[in-house]
Amino acid sequence: MSGDATGKREGTRVVQAGRRPEWTAGIVNPPVWRASTILYDSVAHLREAGGRDTHHRLFYGRRGTPTQWSLADALTSLEPGAEGTFLYPSGVAAISTALLAVLSPGDELLLVDSAYDPTRNLANGLLKRMGITTRFYDPMIGAGIADLIGERTRAIFLESPGSLTFEVQDVPAIVAAARARGVTTLLDNTWATPLLFPAIERGVDYTILACTKYIVGHSDVMLGSVTAGPGRFAALRDASLQLGQVTSPDDAWLGSRGLRTMAVRLRHHEAAALRIARWLVERPEVAAVLHPAMPGCPGHDLFLRDFQGSSGLFAFTLAGGDDAARAALIDTLDLFGIGYSWGGYESLAIPIDPQRHRSVTTRDDVGPMVRLQIGLEDPDDLIADLERGLAAWRATAG
Ligand SMILES: *Cc1c(COP(=O)(O)O)cnc(C)c1O
Repeated sequence: MSGDATGKREGTRVVQAGRRPEWTAGIVNPPVWRASTILYDSVAHLREAGGRDTHHRLFYGRRGTPTQWSLADALTSLEPGAEGTFLYPSGVAAISTALLAVLSPGDELLLVDSAYDPTRNLANGLLKRMGITTRFYDPMIGAGIADLIGERTRAIFLESPGSLTFEVQDVPAIVAAARARGVTTLLDNTWATPLLFPAIERGVDYTILACTKYIVGHSDVMLGSVTAGPGRFAALRDASLQLGQVTSPDDAWLGSRGLRTMAVRLRHHEAAALRIARWLVERPEVAAVLHPAMPGCPGHDLFLRDFQGSSGLFAFTLAGGDDAARAALIDTLDLFGIGYSWGGYESLAIPIDPQRHRSVTTRDDVGPMVRLQIGLEDPDDLIADLERGLAAWRATAG
C-alpha cells in the first residue's frame, strides 16, 4: 500500500479523511446530524435556498447533513483524481443507481461474467425490462473487449477480482479500449477498496464499493458508495437525487467510524489470509486455492502489476468428495461462522457453486468449493479450526 499525491500514506489518509472542521466543530468523530426539516429564518431565505446548488449546504434531510457529506468526502479523498462520491443504503443500491445514471433504453451493457450475482440479476431483470441489453464477457478478455464494443455499447461493468472465483481483470487495457470508443467504465472495487486499487487514478469512470464490507468492517451496517471520476459526478448525483437515494446518518456515521481503522484491519486480513491460503495449498485435501496474490489464480500476473496488496477473502477447491463432505467440513468449524457477506472482524465459511452464476465462461474445477473470509482472530487458531474441518471432510469423503 502506498501514499497519495500529498505523500501521505494510507493509515494517515483514512484517519484524516473527511474530517473538515466546519463539519466536526472540533469533535474528533464527525457527529450524527439527524434531520428531515431544515428551518429557515424567513421566506426570503427559504426561497434563496431553493434556488441555489445545495451540494454540501443544509437544505432538506434527503440532501444529507454533514454526517453523510463527511463520509462521502472521505471516500473521494481516498481516490486521487476523483470528483465526488454519493452514498447509498446498500452496495446493490450503489450498483443499480450508477448503472441507471449511465444507461438509457436501447443501450448495451457489457458485464463481466464473474460479477456479483445481484448485479447479474439487475441486468437480467430491471435493465432488460427497460430495453437495455446485456452481453456477458470473459473476465480474462483484457484488450479483446474492443471486439465486443458495438454501436449501442454504452457501458462496461468490471469487478476485479471476480465474485467467488477471483479472476483479476486487466482494468487498464479495458479502460483504454472503452475510452477509445467513448464507452463509460464502472468497477465494483469492494474486494480491494481504494487502498489496494485506486480505481479512478487507473482511469475507471465510476468506482463502486459495498461499504457494508471493509469500510464498515463490523458486520452491522448496510452501506454503499459510488465515487465518480472527473466530469462524472453531476450525472451520478442527478440520478441519485431523482431516485430518492439517501443513507441514514447513523449508518454513515458507523461507516466513518469503521473507516478510521480500515488500513490496519486490511493489513491484518491480508497477512492472515495469505498465511492460511499458503497452509491450505499444501494440504492433500485441497486441489486448488483461488487467491489473487497466489500463483494459479487467473490474472495473478495482473494482480502483481496493478494491486497494492490483497484483502481477506478467497476460495479453495476440495480434492473431490461430495456436497455432504463439504458440509461436514464447514459444519465442524467453530471459529468460522456460516453466513453471507464478508469484510467484518469475524471469519466466515460458505459453500460456493460458481458455475451456476456464469453465462459465457465454463469452469473446470475438480471438486466442491468453499469461500473463506479471514477475520481478525489469531490465524493459528483459525488454522487449527480448519485442520479439524478437513479431518471431518476426510471422514465423510472416505
Ligand atoms: C456484498 C457485495 C455487494 C453488495 O453489497 P450489499 O451492501 O450487500 O448490497 C456488491 N459487490 C460485491 C463484490 C459484494 O461482495
